[in-house]
Amino acid sequence: MRILVLVCLATAAASPLAIAQEPRPLGPLDDRGVVTYFVAAGARDSGYREADRDLAVWALSDWERAARGKLRFEPGDEQTALVRIYWVEAGAGQYGETRAIAVNGRRGAAVFIRPDTDALGPDIGRLAGGDMLFRDTVVYLTCVHELGHALGLRHTAEFADVMYFFGFGGDIPGFFQRYRAQLRARGDIARVSGLSAGDLAQLATLYPRVGARGASNAVRVLAPAEPPARPRFPLQRTSSILGAAR
Ligand SMILES: [Zn+2]
Repeated sequence: MRILVLVCLATAAASPLAIAQEPRPLGPLDDRGVVTYFVAAGARDSGYREADRDLAVWALSDWERAARGKLRFEPGDEQTALVRIYWVEAGAGQYGETRAIAVNGRRGAAVFIRPDTDALGPDIGRLAGGDMLFRDTVVYLTCVHELGHALGLRHTAEFADVMYFFGFGGDIPGFFQRYRAQLRARGDIARVSGLSAGDLAQLATLYPRVGARGASNAVRVLAPAEPPARPRFPLQRTSSILGAAR
C-alpha cells in the first residue's frame, strides 16, 4: 500500500524545500457511520503532558461541530480506530505529521503530534515557556491542523486558516497568539474554535452535506505537488509507534 504522508514544517522561512513538501491531500475520510478515534499515551521524551489528551479531544470536537452532524467521532480501540493520535518526540522542527492508514477497507489516518514546543524554534519556545496557555494553544492548533489533514483538507496560502502552510512564512508566533488572545482559562479551548471561514468552506467541499457556515471566503487551496513528500522518519519507526499491524 502506498502511504501518503503529510509533513507540517515549523520553519518560518519560506524555502523551495518547504514549498516542495506541500503534500497530496488524503481525500475525505470514509465517514459512513461513526468515525472512531484513539488517543495514545505520550511517548517518553515527547514533551507530552497528561492533559494534552484534552487538547486532542477538543480538536476533534471542533471539527465535529464544524461538520454540523455530518461527522461523529467516538472513542475506540487502537487496532480498530479510524483516526489514531500519537504524541511523538521532536523531530526536524516539525509540528506534526499525518499518514493515511487502511482500517478494514476504510481510509483512516494516523496523526503524529510533536508537543515539545522548545524544539519549534526560539520564538515559539520562549513564548510557550512563559505562558502555558500559549504552549497549549500551539499543541491544540497543531492537533486541529493535523486532524484537518486526516479529514482530507489540504494546506492553504491563507494566513487566517488553521490549514495555512508555514512554509510560506509570515508571523508564525502571531498565528498562535491570535488564538491565545481569545483564552482566559485553559477550559476556553473547548469552546473557542480554531477554524476560519476558509477552513469551514474547505470542509464543506469534502463533505458536501456539511454546508459552509457563514463562509464567505473563497477557498484558495494549493495544487498538490508530485511526488508526495517522503516520510521524515523511517517507516519502521512508525510501525513501532503504531504497534504491530493486526
Ligand atoms: Zn500540514
